[in-house]
Amino acid sequence: MTAQKSFVFGYLKSVKTHPSAEVVYKEVRKKLPSISQGTVYRVLNNFKDKGEIQAIEAKDVTHFDADISDHAHFICERCGNVFDVISECSECGLLKNKKTKVGLIKKYTINFYGICKNCRK
Ligand SMILES: [Zn+2]
Ligand SMILES: [Zn+2]
Repeated sequence: MTAQKSFVFGYLKSVKTHPSAEVVYKEVRKKLPSISQGTVYRVLNNFKDKGEIQAIEAKDVTHFDADISDHAHFICERCGNVFDVISECSECGLLKNKKTKVGLIKKYTINFYGICKNCRK
């Protein structure tokens, strides 16, 4: 179980594609044919609950990201792919660590929605 866990985590760390659980399962199974879908889902949820990975909800499917630094995401409304928005979002963290009327902001999640360049073609 521990080896499977670290393999799933290692795979997620190695990609920037924000795969869904189904994609993670398909990719991990290529190297670890004995792993079950249930294990992959359980491992992903476990990491998510511990805050070691983040989940992004897009088009009925949950996507996973091992990059838990604050960064914004672009979600394509057509294909459902999730992309990082970093360079254009240099001011997205403007309110981070700011005291607001309702409390101190520790982290943030920003999702942008649109049609990605692949789908615009
Ligand atoms: Zn798209
Ligand atoms: Zn991301």
